[in-house]
Amino acid sequence: MSGPCIFCKIVEGAVPSRQVYSDEHCVAFLDISPLAPGHTLVVPRRHVTNLLDCSADALVAVTRALPRIASAVVAATGATGLNLLQNSGASSGQVVMHLHFHLIPRREGDGLGYRWNAGSYQTGEAEALQDRITQLLQG
Ligand code: 5GP
Ligand code: ZN
Repeated sequence: MSGPCIFCKIVEGAVPSRQVYSDEHCVAFLDISPLAPGHTLVVPRRHVTNLLDCSADALVAVTRALPRIASAVVAATGATGLNLLQNSGASSGQVVMHLHFHLIPRREGDGLGYRWNAGSYQTGEAEALQDRITQLLQG
C-alpha cells in the first residue's frame, strides 16, 4: 500500500530519509525529530498498521535485523543503553499508522524517561484478567 502513508513513501524512496539499513523485509532510518541523537526507526517494507495488525511471520521478518541495528546505533552514538519502543494505536501515542520500532539510545542522566505511573490491582482483578487473557490465547 502506498497512498498517503509517509513511511510507505520513505520505503519506496519517494520521500527522502537518512537511511541507515535496509534488507528485503525492512528499512531503518533516523527519526526526523529525535528523542536523542541516533534515534532510529525500523519499519517493514510491507504496510501493516501496528502490532495488532501484524502476523507473526511479518513481525519476525521485520525484527530479525533489530539486534544488529540496535548495536550499531549504540556504538555510533556512544550510548550505554537503548530503549525499544513500539506504539500501537492512537491511545498509545502512535501517530504514523505504519508499524515501526523506535530505537532510542540512552545514557545515564540523559533526562529521558516515561511517566511510569505504576498502579495496583483491586482484589480479584488480576485473577479475572489472567483468566480472560489466558482464555483468549487458548481460543
Ligand atoms: P509514533 O508516535 O507514531 O510512534 O512515532 C512516529 C515517529 O515518526 C515520530 O518520532 C516522528 O518524529 C517520526 N516521523 C514522522 N514523520 C517522519 C518523516 O517524514 N521522516 C522521519 N525520518 N521520521 C518521521
Ligand atoms: Zn505504510
